[in-house]
Amino acid sequence: MRINSSEIKNFLSTPESVKTIEDCISEIYPEYIQLSQNIYLSDNPGGKNHKRIPERTQLYERLYSIAEEARLEVYKFLGAETQERPSLEIRRKNLIETFTNWGYLGIYDPADKHITIFIGSYLLLNETRLLRTAIHEFSHFLQHMHWGDSVMTSESLNEFTEGHAVGVENILSLILAEKNGNQYLRYEALRDELRLLRPAYLYFSEKINHPTKYSLFYEPQDQFYLDKCYEDISTTYPLTPYQEGRAYFKVLEKTEGFSVYKRVLKDLEVNDIMVSLNLPQNNG
Ligand SMILES: [Zn+2]
Repeated sequence: MRINSSEIKNFLSTPESVKTIEDCISEIYPEYIQLSQNIYLSDNPGGKNHKRIPERTQLYERLYSIAEEARLEVYKFLGAETQERPSLEIRRKNLIETFTNWGYLGIYDPADKHITIFIGSYLLLNETRLLRTAIHEFSHFLQHMHWGDSVMTSESLNEFTEGHAVGVENILSLILAEKNGNQYLRYEALRDELRLLRPAYLYFSEKINHPTKYSLFYEPQDQFYLDKCYEDISTTYPLTPYQEGRAYFKVLEKTEGFSVYKRVLKDLEVNDIMVSLNLPQNNG
């Protein structure tokens, strides 16, 4: 199995892959539009109330219990055999972090197996977001346990590791949303799927001259959404590792189902990755 950055780009630059991504977007899109119109209007428990303000003294207890729930679900979803768990810290950003890590909600640091999750304002505490971030970071921890240091620190494998983590984040969110009847969680996951898949679809479909379905970019609340996608594509990598990685795993999902995340975690040998990077296999 070859999984480095350029292999993933080649894999996505085919009519089959582009068509698969287009089909996935077409499937998600109508429900997303429907939900985005309902979600803030309705009084359903997963809607407005997702921003709950617990008593200050109970706050961190509540936050850590949400993260622990996420950890158990990730270990189950990925069939983790390890009992080991990373250390975890949930806190607000300090001033320096506000500038240097702008936009980061969570970080997994392989050096000390430590997860930091940043929460925003206490008043706008978003439990759904915390759950999703925790799912993502615990996925990175399990990747680290299976794939080792070299994979976690290699930039040319970013698309792979982020694609895997963000795939687990979104698919598990959809599963939990279904289980708990949480429409808001479902909405967030679908929105994120589109946020990641549409730029990838736009980029690769135009790259190989596939007839792009621009209607899939229509946003009732944001008529310049397509323009924003173009801007993003021209100013980022052109795609971020998240967008490219999500598209890659989405195509794998289509043939293997959701079990692909478990399979990849277990089957992938460090040697495969070294071969794919063209590195000497004993090189740390
Ligand atoms: Zn990540």
